[in-house]
Amino acid sequence: AGYAAIMLRSVILAAARSQKVERLVETAPVSRDVVKRFVAGSGTGEALDATRQLADAGLCITLDNLGEDTLTADQANATKQAYLELLAALGQAGLTAPKEGGGGVTVATAEVSLKLSALGQAFDEQLAEKNAREICEAAAALGTTVTLDMEDHTTTDSTLDILSRLRRDHPGTGAVLQAYLRRTEGDCRELATAGSRVRLCKGAYKEPEHVAYQAPLEVDKSYVRCMNILMAGEGYPMLATHDPRLIAIAQDRARWFDRSPDEFEFQMLYGIRPEEQTRLARAGHTVRVYVPYGTEWYGYLMRRLAERPANLAFFGRALISK
Ligand code: FAD
Repeated sequence: AGYAAIMLRSVILAAARSQKVERLVETAPVSRDVVKRFVAGSGTGEALDATRQLADAGLCITLDNLGEDTLTADQANATKQAYLELLAALGQAGLTAPKEGGGGVTVATAEVSLKLSALGQAFDEQLAEKNAREICEAAAALGTTVTLDMEDHTTTDSTLDILSRLRRDHPGTGAVLQAYLRRTEGDCRELATAGSRVRLCKGAYKEPEHVAYQAPLEVDKSYVRCMNILMAGEGYPMLATHDPRLIAIAQDRARWFDRSPDEFEFQMLYGIRPEEQTRLARAGHTVRVYVPYGTEWYGYLMRRLAERPANLAFFGRALISK
Protein backbone atom coordinates (compact mmCIF):
# COMPACT_ATOMS: atom_id res chain seq x y z
CA ALA A 1 0.00 0.00 0.00
CA GLY A 2 2.91 2.33 0.80
CA TYR A 3 4.42 1.77 -2.65
CA ALA A 4 1.08 2.29 -4.41
CA ALA A 5 0.62 5.57 -2.53
CA ILE A 6 4.09 6.78 -3.55
CA MET A 7 3.37 5.86 -7.20
CA LEU A 8 -0.02 7.60 -7.15
CA ARG A 9 1.57 10.71 -5.67
CA SER A 10 4.21 10.87 -8.37
CA VAL A 11 1.67 10.32 -11.17
CA ILE A 12 -0.45 13.21 -9.89
CA LEU A 13 2.57 15.45 -9.35
CA ALA A 14 3.66 14.68 -12.93
CA ALA A 15 0.16 15.64 -14.13
CA ALA A 16 0.58 18.88 -12.19
CA ARG A 17 3.36 19.80 -14.64
CA SER A 18 1.38 18.80 -17.76
CA GLN A 19 -0.35 21.55 -19.70
CA LYS A 20 -2.65 19.07 -21.42
CA VAL A 21 -3.99 17.80 -18.11
CA GLU A 22 -4.21 21.36 -16.86
CA ARG A 23 -6.49 22.38 -19.75
CA LEU A 24 -8.61 19.29 -19.22
CA VAL A 25 -9.07 19.90 -15.51
CA GLU A 26 -9.62 23.63 -15.83
CA THR A 27 -12.42 23.21 -18.33
CA ALA A 28 -14.16 20.33 -16.55
CA PRO A 29 -17.56 21.55 -15.36
CA VAL A 30 -16.99 20.06 -11.94
CA SER A 31 -13.81 21.96 -11.20
CA ARG A 32 -15.60 24.90 -9.62
CA ASP A 33 -17.08 22.86 -6.77
CA VAL A 34 -13.88 21.04 -6.06
CA VAL A 35 -11.83 24.18 -6.20
CA LYS A 36 -14.23 25.91 -3.82
CA ARG A 37 -13.43 23.47 -1.09
CA PHE A 38 -9.71 24.36 -1.12
CA VAL A 39 -9.63 27.90 -2.55
CA ALA A 40 -11.34 30.92 -0.96
CA GLY A 41 -12.43 32.63 -4.19
CA SER A 42 -10.84 34.54 -7.02
CA GLY A 43 -10.53 38.14 -5.83
CA THR A 44 -9.59 40.33 -2.87
CA GLY A 45 -13.22 40.66 -1.73
CA GLU A 46 -13.77 36.93 -1.43
CA ALA A 47 -10.40 36.45 0.27
CA LEU A 48 -11.37 39.12 2.77
CA ASP A 49 -14.73 37.47 3.49
CA ALA A 50 -13.07 34.11 4.18
CA THR A 51 -10.48 35.83 6.39
CA ARG A 52 -13.17 37.58 8.44
CA GLN A 53 -15.05 34.33 8.97
CA LEU A 54 -11.96 32.49 10.15
CA ALA A 55 -10.91 35.38 12.40
CA ASP A 56 -14.41 35.39 13.94
CA ALA A 57 -13.94 31.70 14.71
CA GLY A 58 -10.77 32.53 16.68
CA LEU A 59 -8.29 31.52 13.98
CA CYS A 60 -5.33 33.38 12.50
CA ILE A 61 -4.80 33.49 8.74
CA THR A 62 -2.04 33.62 6.16
CA LEU A 63 -3.21 34.49 2.65
CA ASP A 64 -1.69 33.24 -0.58
CA ASN A 65 -2.44 34.88 -3.92
CA LEU A 66 -2.31 31.80 -6.14
CA GLY A 67 0.21 31.73 -8.94
CA GLU A 68 3.65 30.31 -9.57
CA ASP A 69 6.11 29.94 -12.42
CA THR A 70 5.70 33.56 -13.49
CA LEU A 71 7.50 34.15 -16.79
CA THR A 72 7.49 37.92 -17.32
CA ALA A 73 8.22 41.05 -15.30
CA ASP A 74 4.67 42.24 -16.01
CA GLN A 75 3.17 39.11 -14.51
CA ALA A 76 5.43 39.45 -11.49
CA ASN A 77 4.38 43.05 -11.11
CA ALA A 78 0.70 42.11 -11.29
CA THR A 79 1.22 39.58 -8.50
CA LYS A 80 2.95 42.20 -6.38
CA GLN A 81 0.08 44.64 -6.97
CA ALA A 82 -2.43 41.97 -5.96
CA TYR A 83 -0.59 41.54 -2.64
CA LEU A 84 -0.44 45.29 -2.04
CA GLU A 85 -4.17 45.56 -2.71
CA LEU A 86 -4.87 42.62 -0.41
CA LEU A 87 -2.75 44.05 2.41
CA ALA A 88 -4.46 47.43 2.14
CA ALA A 89 -7.86 45.74 2.35
CA LEU A 90 -6.81 43.62 5.33
CA GLY A 91 -5.47 46.72 7.08
CA GLN A 92 -8.68 48.62 6.46
CA ALA A 93 -10.69 45.73 7.86
CA GLY A 94 -8.57 45.83 11.04
CA LEU A 95 -7.19 42.32 10.46
CA THR A 96 -3.45 43.06 10.43
CA ALA A 97 -2.88 44.33 13.95
CA PRO A 98 -0.42 42.24 15.99
CA LYS A 99 -1.95 40.24 18.82
CA GLU A 100 -0.86 40.39 22.45
CA GLY A 101 1.98 38.12 23.49
CA GLY A 102 3.72 36.54 20.56
CA GLY A 103 6.77 35.45 22.53
CA GLY A 104 8.98 38.17 21.00
CA VAL A 105 7.73 37.93 17.42
CA THR A 106 4.87 39.63 15.60
CA VAL A 107 1.79 37.43 15.59
CA ALA A 108 -0.86 39.21 13.54
CA THR A 109 -4.38 37.94 12.96
CA ALA A 110 -3.80 37.94 9.20
CA GLU A 111 -0.48 37.92 7.34
CA VAL A 112 0.49 36.90 3.80
CA SER A 113 2.43 34.01 2.24
CA LEU A 114 4.40 34.57 -0.96
CA LYS A 115 5.91 32.35 -3.61
CA LEU A 116 9.07 33.97 -4.95
CA SER A 117 8.50 32.17 -8.26
CA ALA A 118 5.33 34.21 -8.68
CA LEU A 119 7.42 37.36 -8.23
CA GLY A 120 9.97 36.48 -10.92
CA GLN A 121 12.56 34.28 -9.15
CA ALA A 122 12.98 31.91 -12.13
CA PHE A 123 14.22 34.59 -14.54
CA ASP A 124 15.36 37.48 -12.33
CA GLU A 125 16.15 36.84 -8.68
CA GLN A 126 16.81 40.50 -7.99
CA LEU A 127 13.40 41.44 -9.33
CA ALA A 128 11.76 38.80 -7.13
CA GLU A 129 13.64 40.13 -4.12
CA LYS A 130 12.70 43.73 -4.91
CA ASN A 131 9.03 42.76 -5.28
CA ALA A 132 9.09 40.75 -2.05
CA ARG A 133 10.73 43.66 -0.24
CA GLU A 134 7.96 46.04 -1.31
CA ILE A 135 5.38 43.60 0.02
CA CYS A 136 7.31 43.23 3.30
CA GLU A 137 7.40 47.03 3.65
CA ALA A 138 3.65 47.32 3.09
CA ALA A 139 3.02 44.50 5.58
CA ALA A 140 5.30 46.07 8.21
CA ALA A 141 3.57 49.44 7.84
CA LEU A 142 0.32 47.69 8.79
CA GLY A 143 1.86 45.77 11.71
CA THR A 144 1.84 42.38 10.02
CA THR A 145 4.30 39.93 8.46
CA VAL A 146 5.16 37.96 5.34
CA THR A 147 6.18 34.30 5.06
CA LEU A 148 8.13 33.08 2.02
CA ASP A 149 6.65 29.76 0.87
CA MET A 150 9.22 27.12 -0.11
CA GLU A 151 9.02 25.55 -3.57
CA ASP A 152 11.02 22.79 -5.27
CA HIS A 153 14.57 22.02 -4.11
CA THR A 154 16.28 23.86 -6.97
CA THR A 155 15.04 27.11 -5.38
CA THR A 156 15.86 26.41 -1.72
CA ASP A 157 19.24 28.17 -1.58
CA SER A 158 18.02 31.18 -3.53
CA THR A 159 14.93 31.49 -1.32
CA LEU A 160 16.91 31.21 1.92
CA ASP A 161 19.43 33.81 0.65
CA ILE A 162 16.67 36.25 -0.23
CA LEU A 163 15.03 35.55 3.12
CA SER A 164 18.16 36.39 5.06
CA ARG A 165 18.53 39.69 3.21
CA LEU A 166 14.86 40.59 3.76
CA ARG A 167 15.18 39.73 7.43
CA ARG A 168 17.85 42.38 7.95
CA ASP A 169 15.16 45.03 7.53
CA HIS A 170 12.10 42.92 8.35
CA PRO A 171 13.17 40.39 10.98
CA GLY A 172 9.63 39.01 11.24
CA THR A 173 9.73 37.58 7.70
CA GLY A 174 8.98 33.88 7.98
CA ALA A 175 10.83 30.95 6.40
CA VAL A 176 9.42 27.59 5.33
CA LEU A 177 11.44 24.39 5.70
CA GLN A 178 10.39 21.04 4.26
CA ALA A 179 11.02 17.93 6.36
CA TYR A 180 11.31 15.67 3.29
CA LEU A 181 14.59 17.34 2.26
CA ARG A 182 17.70 15.69 3.71
CA ARG A 183 19.28 19.11 4.32
CA THR A 184 16.46 20.45 6.47
CA GLU A 185 17.72 19.46 9.93
CA GLY A 186 20.75 21.65 9.26
CA ASP A 187 18.57 24.52 8.03
CA CYS A 188 16.44 24.22 11.19
CA ARG A 189 19.56 24.63 13.32
CA GLU A 190 20.56 27.74 11.37
CA LEU A 191 17.13 29.31 11.65
CA ALA A 192 16.18 28.41 15.26
CA THR A 193 17.33 31.80 16.52
CA ALA A 194 15.56 34.52 18.52
CA GLY A 195 12.80 36.28 16.59
CA SER A 196 12.92 33.82 13.70
CA ARG A 197 9.59 32.56 12.39
CA VAL A 198 9.93 29.13 10.80
CA ARG A 199 7.12 27.12 9.24
CA LEU A 200 7.88 23.41 9.20
CA CYS A 201 5.94 21.32 6.67
CA LYS A 202 6.48 17.86 5.16
CA GLY A 203 6.98 19.21 1.62
CA ALA A 204 4.66 19.04 -1.38
CA TYR A 205 6.82 18.67 -4.52
CA LYS A 206 8.14 15.65 -6.38
CA GLU A 207 11.79 15.47 -5.41
CA PRO A 208 14.57 13.06 -6.36
CA GLU A 209 15.89 10.49 -3.92
CA HIS A 210 19.30 12.13 -3.55
CA VAL A 211 17.80 15.27 -2.03
CA ALA A 212 14.62 14.02 -0.37
CA TYR A 213 13.35 11.11 1.73
CA GLN A 214 10.78 9.18 -0.29
CA ALA A 215 9.11 6.89 2.26
CA PRO A 216 6.36 8.57 4.30
CA LEU A 217 7.77 7.13 7.54
CA GLU A 218 11.20 8.63 6.81
CA VAL A 219 9.58 12.01 6.15
CA ASP A 220 7.64 11.80 9.42
CA LYS A 221 10.76 10.90 11.39
CA SER A 222 12.60 13.82 9.83
CA TYR A 223 9.66 16.07 10.73
CA VAL A 224 9.97 15.05 14.39
CA ARG A 225 13.75 15.63 14.43
CA CYS A 226 13.28 19.07 12.84
CA MET A 227 10.44 19.92 15.22
CA ASN A 228 12.65 18.98 18.19
CA ILE A 229 15.31 21.42 16.99
CA LEU A 230 12.81 24.24 16.44
CA MET A 231 10.92 23.68 19.71
CA ALA A 232 14.19 23.49 21.67
CA GLY A 233 15.53 26.60 19.91
CA GLU A 234 14.85 30.27 20.41
CA GLY A 235 12.70 31.04 17.37
CA TYR A 236 8.96 30.86 16.78
CA PRO A 237 8.00 27.46 15.29
CA MET A 238 4.99 27.31 12.99
CA LEU A 239 4.05 23.65 12.74
CA ALA A 240 2.20 23.18 9.45
CA THR A 241 0.62 19.74 9.33
CA HIS A 242 -2.74 17.97 9.48
CA ASP A 243 -1.12 14.83 10.80
CA PRO A 244 -2.70 13.89 14.15
CA ARG A 245 0.42 12.03 15.29
CA LEU A 246 2.68 15.01 14.62
CA ILE A 247 0.21 17.38 16.30
CA ALA A 248 0.22 15.20 19.42
CA ILE A 249 4.02 15.11 19.43
CA ALA A 250 4.10 18.91 19.06
CA GLN A 251 1.86 19.30 22.10
CA ASP A 252 4.13 16.99 24.04
CA ARG A 253 7.25 18.96 23.02
CA ALA A 254 5.57 22.25 23.95
CA ARG A 255 5.09 20.88 27.49
CA TRP A 256 8.62 19.48 27.59
CA PHE A 257 10.27 22.72 26.43
CA ASP A 258 7.86 24.83 28.45
CA ARG A 259 6.53 26.79 25.48
CA SER A 260 3.30 28.63 26.13
CA PRO A 261 0.59 28.77 23.41
CA ASP A 262 1.87 32.16 22.27
CA GLU A 263 5.39 30.82 21.66
CA PHE A 264 4.55 28.56 18.71
CA GLU A 265 1.61 27.97 16.39
CA PHE A 266 -0.11 25.27 14.38
CA GLN A 267 -0.89 25.88 10.73
CA MET A 268 -3.31 24.05 8.43
CA LEU A 269 -4.68 24.54 4.95
CA TYR A 270 -8.06 26.08 4.17
CA GLY A 271 -10.67 23.35 3.83
CA ILE A 272 -8.56 20.59 5.38
CA ARG A 273 -9.61 19.32 8.83
CA PRO A 274 -11.56 22.50 9.66
CA GLU A 275 -13.03 20.95 12.84
CA GLU A 276 -9.55 20.17 14.09
CA GLN A 277 -8.52 23.77 13.41
CA THR A 278 -11.25 25.15 15.67
CA ARG A 279 -10.78 22.40 18.25
CA LEU A 280 -7.10 23.30 18.70
CA ALA A 281 -7.90 27.01 18.82
CA ARG A 282 -10.56 26.42 21.49
CA ALA A 283 -8.01 24.41 23.46
CA GLY A 284 -5.93 27.60 23.62
CA HIS A 285 -3.49 27.07 20.76
CA THR A 286 -2.66 29.63 18.11
CA VAL A 287 -3.88 28.14 14.83
CA ARG A 288 -3.24 29.81 11.49
CA VAL A 289 -5.13 28.79 8.37
CA TYR A 290 -3.39 29.10 5.01
CA VAL A 291 -5.96 30.65 2.68
CA PRO A 292 -5.23 30.50 -1.05
CA TYR A 293 -7.29 32.64 -3.40
CA GLY A 294 -7.05 33.70 -7.03
CA THR A 295 -7.63 32.26 -10.46
CA GLU A 296 -4.44 30.23 -10.85
CA TRP A 297 -5.42 27.34 -8.63
CA TYR A 298 -4.26 24.43 -10.78
CA GLY A 299 -0.79 23.66 -9.34
CA TYR A 300 -2.04 24.17 -5.79
CA LEU A 301 -5.02 21.88 -6.26
CA MET A 302 -2.95 19.13 -7.86
CA ARG A 303 -0.52 19.11 -4.90
CA ARG A 304 -3.47 18.75 -2.50
CA LEU A 305 -4.83 15.84 -4.56
CA ALA A 306 -1.44 14.15 -4.62
CA GLU A 307 -1.29 14.20 -0.83
CA ARG A 308 -4.38 12.26 -0.15
CA PRO A 309 -6.21 9.61 -2.10
CA ALA A 310 -9.39 10.64 -0.25
CA ASN A 311 -9.13 14.08 -1.84
CA LEU A 312 -8.78 12.36 -5.19
CA ALA A 313 -11.88 10.25 -4.50
CA PHE A 314 -13.73 13.45 -3.62
CA PHE A 315 -12.63 14.90 -6.97
CA GLY A 316 -13.62 11.72 -8.81
CA ARG A 317 -17.06 11.58 -7.16
CA ALA A 318 -17.69 15.18 -8.09
CA LEU A 319 -16.72 14.41 -11.69
CA ILE A 320 -19.04 11.41 -11.91
CA SER A 321 -22.00 13.12 -10.29
CA LYS A 322 -22.01 15.89 -12.91
P1 FAD B 1 -0.09 14.05 5.24
O1 FAD B 1 0.97 13.01 5.22
O2 FAD B 1 -0.63 14.58 3.95
O3 FAD B 1 -1.30 13.57 6.11
C1 FAD B 1 -1.06 12.99 7.37
C2 FAD B 1 -2.36 12.68 8.07
O4 FAD B 1 -3.11 13.88 8.26
C3 FAD B 1 -3.27 11.77 7.30
O5 FAD B 1 -2.90 10.44 7.43
C4 FAD B 1 -4.60 12.10 7.97
O6 FAD B 1 -4.69 11.47 9.22
C5 FAD B 1 -4.50 13.58 8.19
N1 FAD B 1 -5.11 14.30 7.07
C6 FAD B 1 -4.49 14.86 6.03
N2 FAD B 1 -5.39 15.41 5.19
C7 FAD B 1 -6.58 15.18 5.71
C8 FAD B 1 -7.93 15.48 5.32
N3 FAD B 1 -8.20 16.11 4.17
N4 FAD B 1 -8.93 15.07 6.11
C9 FAD B 1 -8.68 14.42 7.25
N5 FAD B 1 -7.45 14.09 7.67
C10 FAD B 1 -6.42 14.45 6.92
N6 FAD B 1 4.55 22.60 1.20
C11 FAD B 1 5.64 23.11 0.57
O7 FAD B 1 6.34 22.36 -0.11
N7 FAD B 1 5.96 24.44 0.70
C12 FAD B 1 5.23 25.28 1.47
O8 FAD B 1 5.57 26.46 1.56
C13 FAD B 1 4.09 24.77 2.16
N8 FAD B 1 3.33 25.55 2.95
C14 FAD B 1 2.33 24.98 3.70
C15 FAD B 1 1.61 25.76 4.60
C16 FAD B 1 0.67 25.18 5.43
C17 FAD B 1 -0.05 26.02 6.43
C18 FAD B 1 0.41 23.78 5.34
C19 FAD B 1 -0.57 23.12 6.24
C20 FAD B 1 1.07 23.03 4.41
C21 FAD B 1 2.02 23.60 3.58
N9 FAD B 1 2.69 22.84 2.64
C22 FAD B 1 3.78 23.39 1.98
C23 FAD B 1 2.23 21.49 2.27
C24 FAD B 1 2.91 20.43 3.08
O9 FAD B 1 4.27 20.32 2.69
C25 FAD B 1 2.23 19.07 2.89
O10 FAD B 1 2.27 18.72 1.55
C26 FAD B 1 0.78 19.05 3.36
O11 FAD B 1 0.60 19.81 4.51
C27 FAD B 1 0.34 17.62 3.67
O12 FAD B 1 1.12 17.08 4.70
P2 FAD B 1 0.55 16.76 6.17
O13 FAD B 1 1.61 17.19 7.12
O14 FAD B 1 -0.73 17.41 6.39
O15 FAD B 1 0.51 15.20 6.21
